[in-house]
Amino acid sequence: MLLNQRLRDSIKAATLQNALEHDGKAKEDAVIGKIAASSTEFRSNLKSIVPAIKEVVLEINALPQDVQKLLLEQLGSAGSSQHTGLTEKSHVASSIPLPKLENATRGKVITRFPPEPSGYPHIGHAKAAIIDEYYARMYDGRFILRFDDTNPLNEKLEYYEAFTLALEWLNIRPDIIKNTSDDIELLYDYGRKLVLNGDAYVCTCNQQKIHDLRSKGIECDCRKRPTSDTRNIDNFFDGRFNQNEAIIRFKGSMADQNTAMRDPTLFRIINGHHPKLGDKYRIWPTYDFAAPIEDSLDGVSHAFRTKEYELRNALYFAILERLGLRKPNMIEFSRLEFNGLPVSKRKIKPLIENDIIKSWDDPRLPTLAAMKRRGFIPGAIRRFVLSLGMTLAETKPPFESLEAFNRKLIEPESIRLFFVKDPVEIMIQNSSAREIRLKNHPNIDLGTRRIKVSDSIYISKEDAIRLRAGNEVRLIEMYNIRIVEIKTEGTKLTILASWSGDNIRPDIPKIQWVAKNDDRQFEILVPKELYLGDIYNVNSLEVWKGLAESYVTHLKPDSKVQFVRMGFCRIEGANSAIFTHK
Ligand SMILES: [Zn+2]
Repeated sequence: MLLNQRLRDSIKAATLQNALEHDGKAKEDAVIGKIAASSTEFRSNLKSIVPAIKEVVLEINALPQDVQKLLLEQLGSAGSSQHTGLTEKSHVASSIPLPKLENATRGKVITRFPPEPSGYPHIGHAKAAIIDEYYARMYDGRFILRFDDTNPLNEKLEYYEAFTLALEWLNIRPDIIKNTSDDIELLYDYGRKLVLNGDAYVCTCNQQKIHDLRSKGIECDCRKRPTSDTRNIDNFFDGRFNQNEAIIRFKGSMADQNTAMRDPTLFRIINGHHPKLGDKYRIWPTYDFAAPIEDSLDGVSHAFRTKEYELRNALYFAILERLGLRKPNMIEFSRLEFNGLPVSKRKIKPLIENDIIKSWDDPRLPTLAAMKRRGFIPGAIRRFVLSLGMTLAETKPPFESLEAFNRKLIEPESIRLFFVKDPVEIMIQNSSAREIRLKNHPNIDLGTRRIKVSDSIYISKEDAIRLRAGNEVRLIEMYNIRIVEIKTEGTKLTILASWSGDNIRPDIPKIQWVAKNDDRQFEILVPKELYLGDIYNVNSLEVWKGLAESYVTHLKPDSKVQFVRMGFCRIEGANSAIFTHK
């Protein structure tokens, strides 16, 4: 069911309040009771509301308490100061410490961030990189950026570059940058060694057979060949097999409950042009094989991985064990992803490849390039990630919690301006032309602007259609008007009004406006949820067209503004902006 904003806010507020009274864990029943008690309308629709309450409770319980506190305070202030923007009194510690590492010695900690350059970095990568670097700095250690680039079909120079730029943007400075492919010959040596030691073997079965036997837990004949017969290993590394004719498999245990141990692939043949090594190599190690060896040889003391690799940890250590290589400490954390904003390449790449989405920085995407373009700032991403801590909880945090951190940081530097969507003209009788001076921020000195106002202004259509003759409204920061007449010619709406006082009155609605002759055509791109469940949302990008004050043309691209009663935006060009968040 679609919840209206008031109900959604009520549920959130009740849940947050309850969570903070119970060590961060809201009680479902208590929240349901509170919502039921808060309005007869909610009470009579309770049945349909309960599932939404359950969902919100789950989401909010997954957040750390300081984030819960921040969200609650923002909800509170959003209600009371909607028109002037949020006044934020909350304070979240600027650096939220992560727990100490086990087996860590100052100066000896080495961490690494090992992305595959097979797409653009997203918020999940940001989490990994921030945590990896955080610990390296915490212990005066070193931080390695290592591109795990051993599948030429996936990798492009463009993607290496995208990762480098994203880390720079996040203010993460690797001490060492390297590629797994730099070590390809070395990895061959370790592969040969494993086979010669009888810990791996060349398998020439077809893919279907490998798949079948693996699911049944049965060994194939290749595994039973004596290790003294080295013909196949020579054929393999000398390149005498074609793609899909042979692979090298680890000798795990075909009957293992953990299917990752059922003789997984260590090397395969891939015909493809590698962005760094060109056409020189056709035999490529898998991530499962390369990662432990690289970690060990790079001196990594603490290797962080997301929890989805859990089943492969046994293989990671088994490979090092059989090769007699040093074992790093392995630490897991949960993968970061938001509801409605999938980070998986499977869901994003087809949109780009089929031109449904034009670029990797399209503001609807979860890529860091998109977030930057949308107006998120690196400090907010860092604080948000650190606030999540090292939990293993699978729950996806609501996107609003990242927004809350961003809002707090950009609010003091965002100029308040007026924008009217689908403008409707109002002629104001008996008002004398005047010049008014408006503050660019209600409580921080960001300068002022002057606007000449005659007898004609514009308001948003969504405000205009609610007006009736006789209504009074306040034009924010200016004066009150009384609606005299509303005229409709075809689809065109014109409103006649008269000045009705200068004093601010709590009993009448307040709306933003743009003065005629001070207006500029302006549009705002508004990203919405990219996926609704499993389906691409065809309405995921709205374009709001309208008029903004001419002052907007003085703002440089990348400036942050708050369009009053609309939300925060990042200025993109002379007449466009991207919606950041409310
Ligand atoms: Zn076989």
